[in-house]
Amino acid sequence: MICYLYNEPSLLFFINDAPDLLYYSHIPATILALLVGIFVLLNSKNNLLNKLLFFLALSFSVWTTANLILWTNIHVDILLFTWPFLAVSSSLISILSIYFIYVFINKQDVSSKLKLSFLSLLLPVLLFAHTNLNVSGFNITDCDAFGFEGIYYKAYYIALGILALIWIPIIVVRSYIKSTDLQFKKQLRLIGVGIQSFLLSFFTATSVASYLAGIGYFEDSSLEFYGLFGMIIFMIFIGIIIVNFKTFKVGLLATQALTVALLILTASQYTYATTKITVILTTISLLFTALIGYLLIKSVKSEVEQRKKIQVLANDLEKANERLRQMDKLKSEFVSIASHQLRSPITAISGYASLINEGSYGEVPDKMRDPISRIVESARMMASSIEDYLNVSRIEAGNMKFTYSDFNLVDETEHICDDLRPEALQRGLVLLFRKRIDSKGIVNADIGKVQQIIHNLINNSIKYTPKGAITVYVHDDIKIKKLYIDIMDTGIGMNSETLHSIFQKFERGDSANSVNVKGTGLGLYVALKMAEAMKGTISAHSEGEGKGSRFTIELPLAL
Ligand code: ADP
Repeated sequence: MICYLYNEPSLLFFINDAPDLLYYSHIPATILALLVGIFVLLNSKNNLLNKLLFFLALSFSVWTTANLILWTNIHVDILLFTWPFLAVSSSLISILSIYFIYVFINKQDVSSKLKLSFLSLLLPVLLFAHTNLNVSGFNITDCDAFGFEGIYYKAYYIALGILALIWIPIIVVRSYIKSTDLQFKKQLRLIGVGIQSFLLSFFTATSVASYLAGIGYFEDSSLEFYGLFGMIIFMIFIGIIIVNFKTFKVGLLATQALTVALLILTASQYTYATTKITVILTTISLLFTALIGYLLIKSVKSEVEQRKKIQVLANDLEKANERLRQMDKLKSEFVSIASHQLRSPITAISGYASLINEGSYGEVPDKMRDPISRIVESARMMASSIEDYLNVSRIEAGNMKFTYSDFNLVDETEHICDDLRPEALQRGLVLLFRKRIDSKGIVNADIGKVQQIIHNLINNSIKYTPKGAITVYVHDDIKIKKLYIDIMDTGIGMNSETLHSIFQKFERGDSANSVNVKGTGLGLYVALKMAEAMKGTISAHSEGEGKGSRFTIELPLAL
């Protein structure tokens, strides 16, 4: 085994007659690793994964630089100082690779226990690196260091490499089997194959090379040069992951710059490619880098264009939304103004028609009674529709005012039932009131609004029940401090489709028209909004069309 002890090297390791492959394998891989590492680190300094990749690349560069010096330098003091860096950097590569894969998979830092294990695994290598155990002298003609117990020290850090080679595939395969996310699986395949081929080529080539050289099979360890190409493969895989998955959070322009730097770096190999084999190797690398670079830039460009298109669409959408908001506001204002304008004349029509009907302006001829009753009824319906529209515009403008007070909702519901019973009877319906109350039945709410809600729901039951009964049942649950009012009828019922939509604005059930042609489809919408504003709710149930309905108002008890 011989070293390249020809001339005094310039800049630590440049000598004229060293084999080209020595530089070809060391320098591009080192610069590439450092370039990617620094790049990734600068783009996101706080991302742990980026940091780990940087330190992995740094350890690799320390190894290659130390190795280059050991191959070419002739000064024993420099050699003795440099030798331990091989062990330290190669152990760091093993442990950092495991750490890196853990963070890549779990997207978070490892536990402190695992960190401590990593540190304890590294500790012996770090502690004894510059001791006699590792290096006590340097055999310059053999180009090898020797230590008193060098064999144990070396065996230990080689074992760390083997540990990484076994540990990483296990966790990668385990997480690959467990994961159902196809994108993640794709990334895992790339990173797993990338890091494993790097470690495999690095560790096997370096240790096999020195073993074969040791037993005299080769005259030197130059076989290890090939092991360093694994780093280039790893960095290319990292590049693909950066561009396709944004895992390392690298800017798009940065990726383009990196590609150009890679091309220049690879092409620069021609300057010291003297033999045929290195020219061929450089050309292959250049073509390969150019292809990867082309694909990367293409994907970057299409990404940028897509982003631009999305931005334009987003701007258009924003404008359209703004226009819609303005139109909606105008519509609400229009409805509000129109409703206010209509309210006074309709009140007058309704009031005077009632007075006429009651005979306040003299005897009403029999023939006129029916038309006047119709005027009264229509005016009342119109006033109620206008009230609905006004309520909707108040809700939408956020103008609905609530005045809270404590009152007995059970009594209030009973009064409303008493008020509406004649109307129900007129339509041949029975209106029953039932209660089962454990509390005092007091709620804190806006009494007017609550009356309006109950009125509305019982009125609906009267409207949508051709024959049978309406039962209003008030009950409570003091454990959860809730008071419920069930309004059950034997009317037209609802199918599930209707049940889903009735609380929306202007929604009316299909069969509603057959029973009650006049209706705005706003009553339930307004009632629900009011109930919700008072921390309550309303729900609707029905077994189906023709099977009756049950509406439940729920309000919090004031205990
Ligand atoms: P409107 O009664 O003016 O149509 P609502 O918002 O009060 O508006 O009711 C919406 C729809 O809900 C009604 O059109 C009807 O289809 C359905 N609905 C409400 N109450 C009942 C009920 N008690 N029985 C059957 N359907 C009902």
